[in-house]
Order: sequence, then structure tokens, then C-alpha cells
Amino acid sequence: MTVARTGSIWGATMLRRRMLVSLEINNRDRAYDWFLGWMAHRASSGTASRAAPWIRSHELSVETMIERRANGSSSVFFQLVAGPGTHWFKYKGAWMQVKRERETRSMMGGQQPGMSVPWETVMLTTLSRDRALFPQLLAEARDLGMQGQEGKLVIHTAWGIEWRPFGKPRRKRPLQSVVLEPGMGEKIEQDIKAFLARRQWYADRGIPYRRGYLLHGPPGSGKTSFIQALAGSLSYDICLLNLSERGLADDKLNHLLSNAPERSFVLIEDVDAAFNKRIQTSADGYQSSVTFSGFLNALDGVASGEERIIFMTTNHVEQLDPALIRPGRVDFSALIDNASPLQARTLFQRFYGEGSNVELNPDELDVLAQNLEDIVEEKLGREQRVSMAALQGHFIRNQPKDAVASSLDLFTGILKKEP
Ligand code: ADP
Repeated sequence: MTVARTGSIWGATMLRRRMLVSLEINNRDRAYDWFLGWMAHRASSGTASRAAPWIRSHELSVETMIERRANGSSSVFFQLVAGPGTHWFKYKGAWMQVKRERETRSMMGGQQPGMSVPWETVMLTTLSRDRALFPQLLAEARDLGMQGQEGKLVIHTAWGIEWRPFGKPRRKRPLQSVVLEPGMGEKIEQDIKAFLARRQWYADRGIPYRRGYLLHGPPGSGKTSFIQALAGSLSYDICLLNLSERGLADDKLNHLLSNAPERSFVLIEDVDAAFNKRIQTSADGYQSSVTFSGFLNALDGVASGEERIIFMTTNHVEQLDPALIRPGRVDFSALIDNASPLQARTLFQRFYGEGSNVELNPDELDVLAQNLEDIVEEKLGREQRVSMAALQGHFIRNQPKDAVASSLDLFTGILKKEP
């Protein structure tokens, strides 16, 4: 009996091995989300009901998505994806089994509270003869997943030693919507385009193909907005790097900088806060293990042919160590300052001009915009100027006429003292 039983188990295993083929996808791989999204899509679209709904579809997980529109409103919708458990579906005539498993004891994502997620895998199994369907299925899932990203800006953050998309892809911000000093935006854009066009030039001379940008100036002047808009206009992603993050050490930093996804800008905000005294301390007094020299080394990196574009921002350029801003680490540095007279005027016109729901005829708009420009130009010292963010807030709170009439209060009054 025992022999028979062992034999039949062994036989079944052998048969399984010979006839079935499995594919494992874990949640560290981008294909994981694509695949779940693809299954959800099949289940919710017509194909599923016609072809094959999941047989065991009572184990579902919900994924909540928030879509923000350009006008600031947002809507929430849910996607039901296959939850942990076993599901079946038919793809191009072949039955496939999907087993989604979650390992709750080992977490990935690391040190940041709330950021870690359980380790998960999906195991796809089908008959050996249908193995060629796997690549097709994955390609279909990828195309569907990428479709949602087209024309959107993807922001990645560091998870342990790798980059992962953070949140859903965002709507791109038009470059012209960030109002900088005349010519400034164009200068940065031209610089980066020239850099991107010279890959071969760098390669021929053996120069590492990388460029560093530093945008400095008071908070709320549009540094981050501009970088994001620029990335969007060039169809680049953003990799957001926080140097004060717990658990980040020199070696991890080096790895992250050398392994940023293709076509992405690495954005390091407030570098002064991280390194003004060459010791790295976060707000709660925690000292990160990234050292200044480690950071410089990571910036210099091993000479590789990979393209690397780094953007840094700071509110206090004077506090930066000269070693950080020397060419090779920072090749292009620009001051993005508080609102100049012309910037104030342009922002005003964008705000209340065409497309806004404020009724103003073009002449009135021009007169008011001119008034505002004159106030900033003539009545204010440079140190009294406010940030573009403060102006934007002022315009949101007021009707155009009041906004101009009360603008002196904004510049000289309490609002000025806001950090
Ligand atoms: P910074 O990075 O310089 O601190 P942000 O880019 O974060 O500033 O800007 C904060 C807010 O102010 C954003 O909502 C942005 O839309 C607005 N803002 C700031 N500067 C500008 C600008 N130059 N043009 C248009 N909007 C701006």
C-alpha cells in the first residue's frame, strides 16, 4: 500500500513536472503590477464575461486610485484585483492557474514606517505546450500598464536599494505654467537638450556622461515645479532622493545613484539641510549614515557610459560646501528668485486671463497687470518681494481688482513674514 501511495504521489509529481510549466512573478518586479492590472482589466471588461471570468473570484483585493484633474478636483475609483488565493482564467484557449501568495513575515520597503509592504508572488501555471503564451501575456499586460502612464509624469522613490514608482503617474504640468525670469527656463531647457544630444561626444572623449544642476533661491519660487515640468516636457521620470532618510548609507546611496531608471532625473531637494555642516542630521536629531564624502563619491560615481542627470535644490546656496558645487558635480547653477515685477505681471495675466472664470476684458486685465508690475517695480525694495507661491495664494484668495489693490499689504504686511 505504502509503495503504491508513494508511487502514485511520485507519478503525479513527475507528470506535473513534465506537463505543466509555471512562471513566478514577485512584487519587486514591475511585471507584478502590470499583471494584476491586466487581470483586473479582463475581469471588468467585456472580454472576461465572454471568454473566461475567474472561476474563483471571491478572493479579491481592492486598489483605490485617486485621479486629480488639472482644475484641482479629484475623483476616487476602485479596481478589484485578484486577491491572495487561487484563480483560474482562460487565455487564448489555454487554461491558466494563478496563485497569489503573500508572505507577511518578511516585509520589503525597509525602514520608513508605513512604507513597507509584504513580500508577494503570483505563480502562473499552465500546460507545457502553452508555455509560449507567457511572453505574449506579459507583453499585453505591459502595454496595458504603460498605456496609463503615457503623457504622465512618474515619480520614483527609493525603497531600500531600489527605485519604485511612488503613487500613480501624475498629470504633466505644462512648462509655460511655471513663470520664471524671462529666458531662464529656456536657458536650462536648452542646456539639457544640448547635453542629451552629445552622448557620442562624451563617449569619444571618455568623459562620464552626466550633468548636475543646482537651482537655488527662496522657497516657493518654483524650483521643484520647474524641474517636474521640465521632466514632463522631455518625457523623463523623476527619482526623488531624500538624503536624510533613515537607513540610507553611503553604499546604498551609491547604488541608487548608479541604478536610476532610464530616462529619469534624480532630484535631491534641500541639499543644504542635509550637508551644511558636513554632518547629516534630520529634524528629529537622527544622524543619517550618509557622510559628506560618501555623497561626493556617489555623485562622482564610477565612470560609466550611463546617462545621469541630477537636479539639486537649495534655499541657502551660501551654506553649501564649495566641494559640492564644483564643475562635474554641479555644471549649471541658477538663481530662481522671488517674484520680479515681470513675473508678478505674467502670473497675474495667466491667473485671471483666458480660461479663468473671472470676467475681465483684455484691456482691464492689462491695466491691472501693469499696476501690479509698477507696484513691485517702484514701491518695493528687492528684499520686500514675495515668492511666486505667496502671490499665487494671494490671487486665489482675491478677485483681480482686490488682489492688485491689496498687493502692497501682501508685500509689506504679515504675509511677508510667512516662512
Ligand atoms: P520651491 O521648490 O521653489 O520651493 P515650488 O515649486 O514647490 O517652490 O512651488 C510651490 C507652489 O508655488 C507651487 O504650487 C507652484 O505652483 C507655485 N509656484 C512657485 N513658483 C512659481 C512660478 N515661478 N510660477 C508658477 N507657479 C509657481
